[in-house]
Amino acid sequence: MTARWHINIITLFPEMFPGPLGQSLSGKALENGKWSFKTVNIRDFAEGVHKSVDDTPYGGGAGMVMRPDIIEKAVRSIENPGRKIYLSPRGTPLTQKLAQELSEEPVLTLLCGRYEGVDQRVLDSEQFKEISIGDYVLSGGEPAALILMDACIRLLPEVVGNAETTLEESFSGGLLEYPHYTRPAEWRSADGQTRAVPEILTSGNHRNIALWRKKQAETLTQSRRPDLWQACQEKSGKPEKGKK
Ligand code: SAM
Repeated sequence: MTARWHINIITLFPEMFPGPLGQSLSGKALENGKWSFKTVNIRDFAEGVHKSVDDTPYGGGAGMVMRPDIIEKAVRSIENPGRKIYLSPRGTPLTQKLAQELSEEPVLTLLCGRYEGVDQRVLDSEQFKEISIGDYVLSGGEPAALILMDACIRLLPEVVGNAETTLEESFSGGLLEYPHYTRPAEWRSADGQTRAVPEILTSGNHRNIALWRKKQAETLTQSRRPDLWQACQEKSGKPEKGKK
């Protein structure tokens, strides 16, 4: 039986799954049936003695390309593929908003590329949406699939204990999150400095704590991620400082 959120993973390395997602929060959610997955081994659809799944690129150039006929067979072996995603550095960047959207889909099929990638024709014919996990190149789509899945799993209902936590988290409201502190209230670090927790946090005044955290989140976002800050300002209709 499949869970409310089911993921098919088309890969040359099925043993990479669930990998780290079998641990901790996502592992418990897997055990409790909050999500399920099935791997489809591309090699099972290869032909010939060498069972190769790739070939040299038309037009020349370095590397190998995954063959469209083999990928199509792998995709077509899945009874209910749902929304099809190809993990690719050329794709739409994965954001918290997109992760939220994908966590609400009942079924996804993730295609993990290797080598130089997948023949464009099968991406077009099977209508894959390309998603990137960042502006860098990995050697395969499997770690990218694991990251996408992790970002979605923690957004599934009843996976993260406190739903408020995800509401305040970085990106959810458009800002980065405020800094966190725990015991001891005063701590002497290895550099010889005594570092105290900001006084406001031990005051017990919840309204002032909330205001302080909001200010911290705003200051952090403004300095570290001016792009996010600008988007937030535009959304709230506030002009940027220095702009009319
Ligand atoms: N030749 C490709 C390019 O320059 O765009 C890179 C291919 S990469 C070596 C092999 C596979 O890793 C890709 O087919 C894709 O599935 C995966 N991959 C690499 N970087 C990725 C990223 N930033 N996001 C998602 N998937 C990625």
